Amino acid sequence: MSDAIFFWLAPTVLLIFAAAFALVAYQQDGYAPEARWASLGFFIGLVSLLIDTLRAPSDLVLMATATALHWPALAAIAQAFLVRHGRGLPLRPLAAVYVIGLAVLFHSSFIDRSPNLGVANANLIGAAIQFLALPVLARKRGTLLDTLIFGTFLFAALCYSLRAALFLPQDVAVIETGQGFWSLYNLTFYLTTGLVSLMNAVLLLIAIGSDLIHRHYQAAETDILTGLPNRRAFERWIDAARDGETEYGAVIMIDLDHFKRVNDTCGHDTGDAVLGQAAGVLSQALGGRGNLARIGGEEFAVLVFAATLEAGLHIAEDLRAAISRERFAGVSWNITGSFGVAGVSQRRIRAALRHADRAVYCAKEGGRDRVVPARPDLGIARYEAVAAE
Ligand code: GH3
Ligand code: MG
Ligand code: MG
Repeated sequence: MSDAIFFWLAPTVLLIFAAAFALVAYQQDGYAPEARWASLGFFIGLVSLLIDTLRAPSDLVLMATATALHWPALAAIAQAFLVRHGRGLPLRPLAAVYVIGLAVLFHSSFIDRSPNLGVANANLIGAAIQFLALPVLARKRGTLLDTLIFGTFLFAALCYSLRAALFLPQDVAVIETGQGFWSLYNLTFYLTTGLVSLMNAVLLLIAIGSDLIHRHYQAAETDILTGLPNRRAFERWIDAARDGETEYGAVIMIDLDHFKRVNDTCGHDTGDAVLGQAAGVLSQALGGRGNLARIGGEEFAVLVFAATLEAGLHIAEDLRAAISRERFAGVSWNITGSFGVAGVSQRRIRAALRHADRAVYCAKEGGRDRVVPARPDLGIARYEAVAAE
């Protein structure tokens, strides 16, 4: 009785995982390709396991079939982890490994009938498939989750390699009686493979969940017209700066000049295209020197990493020059922008943004296409007066 329960446990677990990932793939409607690969992998693994456990011990054809299916199951699971990073198993090496595996499997099953070679081959090819996935997983070890995934694959690759090494020198006679090392081998195989499958399934479910949340965050914080971070992202940066997670030395507010004229003369679609092009120009000219967002219609803002107001002014001048140099598609005149820059003191970014906004106003009053430093010492009313002079 206990044997029977043990026998059905592993296939049932594989079936549950195959169904669970199929459900995730169906629910996410194409947003989780990793779930489709995982479902396929666990399903093939289930078929392979059922064939191997239900076959008669002497049925070599079914034994070879089970082994030949075990490898694609491993490859599909590895693929599930790799598609998360937009990658896949290298096809040619994978095909070569599979063909070599099949050739040796055929030889060991039907020609020289060597169980030693057969089991060593089954494990070595399994190890090779895990090793093919390792380089990408090693490179993508950015988070704790990705490190755990890499560790699990390394562990699986070592299990497969060690089993091959342990089994190759064993006595065939002992194996064929179904006693001794053979049963110890089987126990080791079921335990380690079961453990690795379980870890893979749990890690994949966590990965799919966290990837989906990450994608939704990303979408919610991206402006669809320009592809830049939007106001929501900008607000989060400000909160992070207030909490001391990021340090900024200056802020730049940008307002494109006479943008209504672009819409009125060239049409709203051209206006949209100009905004997209302007976003590209600003982001290229900024490089990695700050965080750029589109915070309103034709308004952009930069949180500058540099420590001083002077450095912020220098960057703003680069951005201004880049915009006024650019030829915008569908527009026959030069588009320009007005820039206000304020230094950030004691993490008071919102105050700096208000001052930079005032400076933009002064830039408009002063004739547009210019960079104006904020003058917090003047106070807002005096600003207006100075600008009007
Ligand atoms: P200035 O800032 O130089 O004073 O003049 P302006 O014409 O740019 O100023 P205003 O703020 O009055 O007008 C901004 C215009 O930008 C009005 C609006 O139609 C246009 N705009 C805002 N968002 C979009 C957008 O997403 N697409 C397009 N095509 N136009 C937009
Ligand atoms: Mg405006
Ligand atoms: Mg404007």
